[in-house]
Amino acid sequence: MTENPPRRQVRPVVENPDGTTSRTPIRDGRPLLNFRSPRVTQPPQHLADMTMDERITVVKEMGLPGFRAKQLSTHYFVHHTTDPEAMTDLPKDRRAELVERFFPPLLTEVHRLRTKNGDTIKFLWRLFDGALVESVLMRYRNRITLCVSSQCGCGMNCPFCATGQQGLTRNMSSAEIVEQVIRANQVIAAGELADTSGEDSDMLGNPAAAVGSEADEEQGREPTCASGAENGPGRAERVTNIVFMGMGEPLANYKRVMGAVRRFVEPAPAGLGMGARRITISTVGLVPGINKLAAEEIPVTFALSLHAPDDGLRDEMIPVNTRWKADEAIDAAYNYYRTTGRRVSIEYALIKDMNDHAWRAELLAKKLNARGRGWVHVNPIPLNPTPGSVWTASEPAVAAEFVRRLQDAGVPTTIRDTRGKDIDGACGQLAAAQ
Ligand code: SF4
Repeated sequence: MTENPPRRQVRPVVENPDGTTSRTPIRDGRPLLNFRSPRVTQPPQHLADMTMDERITVVKEMGLPGFRAKQLSTHYFVHHTTDPEAMTDLPKDRRAELVERFFPPLLTEVHRLRTKNGDTIKFLWRLFDGALVESVLMRYRNRITLCVSSQCGCGMNCPFCATGQQGLTRNMSSAEIVEQVIRANQVIAAGELADTSGEDSDMLGNPAAAVGSEADEEQGREPTCASGAENGPGRAERVTNIVFMGMGEPLANYKRVMGAVRRFVEPAPAGLGMGARRITISTVGLVPGINKLAAEEIPVTFALSLHAPDDGLRDEMIPVNTRWKADEAIDAAYNYYRTTGRRVSIEYALIKDMNDHAWRAELLAKKLNARGRGWVHVNPIPLNPTPGSVWTASEPAVAAEFVRRLQDAGVPTTIRDTRGKDIDGACGQLAAAQ
């Protein structure tokens, strides 16, 4: 079925540094993509950068018994503290030295924004070298989700994204990624994230799951935290779900992102002891990275930010599509499902008149169904626009039609809530405003 008459097609146009305009940012006539971190300096090594064995080696080098590494890890990953005064099980005369060696300060809070009802908090952090990154903490009915950054800026240059406009400054270290979660846990423990345990609903008014974990809930794979999995009675509340949907392309910083993921899933006190399925890694389609992730045997939830099923538009919206085409990215996502057994998510930012045409929903459904049934879930998300951007979210009726076409074709589809509209919720907006 096609639309009659067809709606207009708006295409991305960006202004290049030399004053010319093009569909996507270009340099020397080629799409501008930056896979390498230009700034190589990394922060001092932190406990969260090390495996437990490495921590033991360091404490022994300091002339202390190996079990001190476990105690330090418990303070960090269980009690979420780096305060030497709280570490009463460590020798008093060595505490300051241990804290200095294992817990160099990584994130300084620069700014915090809360939604009116207080269930969403956006943080702006300054890193040791002055680089700025963001994270967003969101309370939902059954979980607390933190959206983390993995790079300072991003080299993928998607023209509709505030972070993409900043370019890539450097990769974040594993510990800088982990520390975002620890700091969020401290904020939750201090009671600063409002408890609005009302119903969440999607844009169409249906009860909805949210960022990164629809697949789990719909597959019934894991009980919700409200039923005791994470934040049940008698347990201190903490972040239950992590999504790599903040600043940066996580698969372009593969090694350090995986270091952080290991810290998230390792049982306490080596790490936070979270379930892998509660961690979502989202990519714009770096195919070799997706295949590597599939082989890791850490079955995180995988999300492909597709945003367009046709290469004509996707080449312009997601410059990395000029390297790996939409079909290659979908094949890699399907391979992830086949290797891990984990159903994957397709993220699709609905942008008015750009990619929200009903025929695109049908083309997407056709491409997904061609690989099989039951392996994928589509999450259309009305765009959270960048200030000053010419693009805006699709009309609700258009979004509803987009969803209907996918559902009619048998593709599980849930339109997602966009949190934090009143606090510059789209990633990169706070950092860009500094
Ligand atoms: S959408 Fe994602 S990959 Fe694209 S520029 Fe923004 S942060 Fe980078």
